[in-house]
Amino acid sequence: PGIAPVLATRGLRCGYGAADVLREVDLEVRRGELVAVLGPNGAGKTTLMRALAGLHRPVEGGILLNGADVSGHGANRLARQGLALVPEGRQVFGDLSVIQNIRLGAYGRPPEDLDAAVEEMLDRYPRLRERAEQRAGLLSGGEQQMLAIARGLISRPDVLLLDEPSLGLAPAIIRELYDGLSDLRDAGATILLVDQMADMALSIADHAYVLADGRIVSAGTAAAIRSDRTLDEAYLGAA
Ligand code: ATP
Repeated sequence: PGIAPVLATRGLRCGYGAADVLREVDLEVRRGELVAVLGPNGAGKTTLMRALAGLHRPVEGGILLNGADVSGHGANRLARQGLALVPEGRQVFGDLSVIQNIRLGAYGRPPEDLDAAVEEMLDRYPRLRERAEQRAGLLSGGEQQMLAIARGLISRPDVLLLDEPSLGLAPAIIRELYDGLSDLRDAGATILLVDQMADMALSIADHAYVLADGRIVSAGTAAAIRSDRTLDEAYLGAA
């Protein structure tokens, strides 16, 4: 309260052709917070992330980054301005090495010392260091997700956007991944996460939004959302 959000949407509406996929979406992310957007398959989570990253142009509404209106800015420009998207399905380049993949993330906003920044990522993710010279395609799903996150972090974004990081991973791996995200937030990162794994996301989030059929049907602290029946309704499609 009182602190301006680092990222916010105001009345965001997105769609494909005539069909609205997001309507009147207002959300806010404050510096140092981990915010989760939850919702079932098809709720519009990926569309929201793509809109925030400049990959999908909203029909209406605004996006504010560090208080400035960045609506309509393209993906490259937004990357330079401080947004890094870790896309659904990770999208690592399987034929490139782990290090080459990490360095690609600096395309948007190269840190002053790229080599030191790569080292920092390898310190954070020792498993990536062990496999630094290996082809990314040989990594496990959990390791590829780690790699995708390291690629996003290397540009030292103001907000890391994470689309469905748990997709296709075993529960124990998701737990480990989420603990890593929690540590990352504790180290000062600002994270906006969308995921279908509501319990897991709420266990680490500060605030959460529930998206159902393109609308935010509930918002609050993670603790409040956890005890809110709207969440069940959203997942049952009865919201
Ligand atoms: P998922 O968990 O499956 O990724 P989601 O919550 O991320 O779901 P979106 O992928 O944003 O949801 O999709 C929201 C709605 O928009 C769905 O009904 C989907 O069919 C529709 N949609 C998504 N992409 C397109 C597209 N390129 N053209 C038309 N409709 C689309």
